[in-house]
Amino acid sequence: MNLRFIVIMMMLVSLCSCGSMNYKIPNNNNKAVAHRGAWKQNNFPENSIASLKHAIELGCAGSEFDVRMTADSVLIINHDAHYNGLLVEDTKYEDLIKFKLSNGEKLPTLKEYLIVGMTNNTTTGLVCEIKPSKDKARGKFIARKVVNLVKDLKATPYLAFYISFDYDILKEITKISQTKTQYLKGSKSPDQVKADGISGIDYHLKVFKEHPEWIKRSKEIGVVLNAWTANTPEDLDWLLSNNFDFITTNEPELLLKKVSFLKLQNY
Ligand code: MG
Repeated sequence: MNLRFIVIMMMLVSLCSCGSMNYKIPNNNNKAVAHRGAWKQNNFPENSIASLKHAIELGCAGSEFDVRMTADSVLIINHDAHYNGLLVEDTKYEDLIKFKLSNGEKLPTLKEYLIVGMTNNTTTGLVCEIKPSKDKARGKFIARKVVNLVKDLKATPYLAFYISFDYDILKEITKISQTKTQYLKGSKSPDQVKADGISGIDYHLKVFKEHPEWIKRSKEIGVVLNAWTANTPEDLDWLLSNNFDFITTNEPELLLKKVSFLKLQNY
């Protein structure tokens, strides 16, 4: 084997391994991100495995969930800082799981959640929100731990994007992962976000109504547009008419109907 052959083979191997990191769900353009999973119509608990599975059944473009870390460094899925009156950050995992979710599920770990998200899923990107922690250093530690777990499980191709209210968490992620990121707080312009290597803005609907120029500017410079949490027909229509890339909603069924109708009209 000559040296040139070995070099070419090494380049091919590295190209293949980069390719496998690519997002695996690229063709789903229905915009619907189920907020904490698709829970509402079936009365599932928010952020439950059941809500994730239903978002996948519906074929939503994305299913969002919230990550926190217990006192003994277990990554779990829960929106609030507290779970059954216990502060997640200060409580051990074994003490949290003494309490079941309302449908009888165990409080899911991130690992369990990701494994479900990688099973029989060809439609739905995982939208991983990392909650701010009690201090910035712990937040960055959580960010690294989440990204490393995603890599270890080979879940990167299913990860649509990471989101956070903590800008430093997103900046930490951009250092160690090529997965896309979106900022939630609504306080930074599209130009600022782009300059910092963040891929998108996922702001409260009212922020975009106050800053319509940010919609136009994001499209000009390639910053991805997402909004939360749009639940009324009027708000969904407003975001669709402004051609947002993603719409985060507690009513994914309604949004999917609207998107199908628009597609029929050759929108
Ligand atoms: Mg969230």
